[in-house]
Amino acid sequence: MAPKSFRVVVLHGDGIGPEIVPQATRVLEAISEASSDVELILDPRDFGGCAIDKYGDPLPEETLEACKRADAILMGSIGGPKWGPTAKVRPEPGLLRLRQELGLYANVRPASFASDSLVSYSPLKAEVAKGVNIIVVRELIGGLYYGPREEQGDGNSAYDTMVYSVAEVERITRVAAQIALNANPPLMIHSIDKANVLASSRLWRKVVTETLTKEYPQIKFQHQFVDTAAMNIVGSPRKLNGVVLTENLFGDILSDEASIIPGSLGLLPSASLTDAPTSPSDPLFRPTPGLYEPIHGSAPDIAGKGIANPVGTILSAALLLRYSLGLEKEAQAVEAAVRKVLDDEDIGGYGLKTADLGGKATTAELGDKVVEVLKTLL
Ligand code: ATP
Ligand code: MG
Repeated sequence: MAPKSFRVVVLHGDGIGPEIVPQATRVLEAISEASSDVELILDPRDFGGCAIDKYGDPLPEETLEACKRADAILMGSIGGPKWGPTAKVRPEPGLLRLRQELGLYANVRPASFASDSLVSYSPLKAEVAKGVNIIVVRELIGGLYYGPREEQGDGNSAYDTMVYSVAEVERITRVAAQIALNANPPLMIHSIDKANVLASSRLWRKVVTETLTKEYPQIKFQHQFVDTAAMNIVGSPRKLNGVVLTENLFGDILSDEASIIPGSLGLLPSASLTDAPTSPSDPLFRPTPGLYEPIHGSAPDIAGKGIANPVGTILSAALLLRYSLGLEKEAQAVEAAVRKVLDDEDIGGYGLKTADLGGKATTAELGDKVVEVLKTLL
């Protein structure tokens, strides 16, 4: 049988992007080489500040068209002082346009430790931080950020509006459910709202309950108010282990709050999806296009030094394999390789860490080791 072929657009971007992204593409290449069933075609394109320098546009038409045709997109980070707030053309509107054009309505951010040996780098006490396994699923193109808003009169008052439709809540609930089902046993879903005050939250709670009860009876779920959840994330985060499902504003705040748990920005991946991923065991598997990027920015202060942590980008590639390509086994192999490279020697790892974690390893050394270990796992 001919191998299943997937096209992955690669957007290196700016700052540390061109240093960290190649570590992740080498991981994808290793998987493509090792498998006779899967062929990954990487398609690098210009995007962000570097595209402004070349074309005067952060999102050139041919980049957008390539992204629309792709099975998945792997991105570094964009922006930098050269294209700051006073620049005529800025990179950030390019990213907003890309998200909108592709309909990336589901933002997925695991906030767990890449390795339990990293618990000591958390600003939280080890006994609080240990064993945390939270995946935040945030609705990304609805709610307060997109509802009608106005400044009224002579600036004496202003309003924003939080609107959610049944269809919008249903579709994001299905994304959370599929992600919960990707784990064995399925993860619990914690749906976060403010239903004691907000009408939109009461609709949210009702639709989440109906969708999960009818379509996913095997998944356990609970509802929690956003203020309680905010407290739990830093006070007793294990209480939220599983999928934290929430709307746009609450998700913006909670996902940044949760990213504090592992200690370095350089460790965390994210996915933005256009639809619920199909389960990898589903014989009718179809790719769910998505955009994968580390949660950090372009880190201009350390760009060009070869010391940036590539783990967030490599783990983003693992999410790409899992959600857009349905390659769960390969995704787990990448995660296991990262764990082994980071883990300390006394627990069987190589203890390689970049400067953000107090280590001396370079970006490329970490990438080399992950690829080397990964090849033994495939
Ligand atoms: P943006 O507005 O683009 O999100 P930011 O202002 O939040 O950017 P980042 O670029 O994320 O800032 O950087 C914040 C700090 O974290 C910087 O000191 C940066 O060097 C550090 N940092 C970010 N990513 C990494 C990484 N992958 N490895 C090491 N340090 C990092
Ligand atoms: Mg930032």
